[in-house]
Amino acid sequence: MTEPLNVTIVILGYADSLFDIDLLKKHQSSFFKIDNICIKRILPDPQIHDGRLDIIYSTDDIAKLLKDVTGDVVVGIIDYPFNRGFFSYGFGHNKYCLSIKNPRFILEKANIRIENFILKSIYKYILFIKSNNLKSHRDTRRCIFDLNGDLRDIVFNTEKAIICNECKAKLEKLNLPQDYITLFEKELLHIDKDVMKKVELWLQSHVYIAMLLSGIASLLISILANILYQLFAV
Ligand SMILES: [Zn+2]
Repeated sequence: MTEPLNVTIVILGYADSLFDIDLLKKHQSSFFKIDNICIKRILPDPQIHDGRLDIIYSTDDIAKLLKDVTGDVVVGIIDYPFNRGFFSYGFGHNKYCLSIKNPRFILEKANIRIENFILKSIYKYILFIKSNNLKSHRDTRRCIFDLNGDLRDIVFNTEKAIICNECKAKLEKLNLPQDYITLFEKELLHIDKDVMKKVELWLQSHVYIAMLLSGIASLLISILANILYQLFAV
């Protein structure tokens, strides 16, 4: 394996109030490590005026904000949308910016953490860099290279994303280290809900079983309390 790439996260505005930056920093990967957090609270006036109160940034605005930031991979995160409907945009060879404004509403409804979306995007950027910008495909295959032209499709390729056979074949033609793709796929599978969330969702979708378990637990507690009372009653 090659050395992990150093990722610099650039918080634009107050985007970090919407996710847990420590959770991202703790993420273990053989492909990258988040070793630098750069914060740019003051954003310029947006240049796009759509006649309403919405704030939309052009990709030129974002390029200026990321211009002086360095790192193997630079990932800006902003809570405002970009022009032309983009939610992710690349600047040169190793700089990207991710808008979480619209994705976070879709992810929230699907019980997917925004941190998982950010991590998945970093993995995608790493592969873009390694493959010299392998093109995304327009159809949705649960693949990390899905274009997500319909933004709602991010629910299919954020958690446990795959690398589809076509993309895998293209990557295998590149001069990547042995097992690079296999290990990459394994790490993608680890981007998933935590255990507590899975239990919560399972209970929500099995209400009757949850009620039965709750009833059994109440009965056992009642029996135990009765036994203790009999043992220690004076
Ligand atoms: Zn694919």
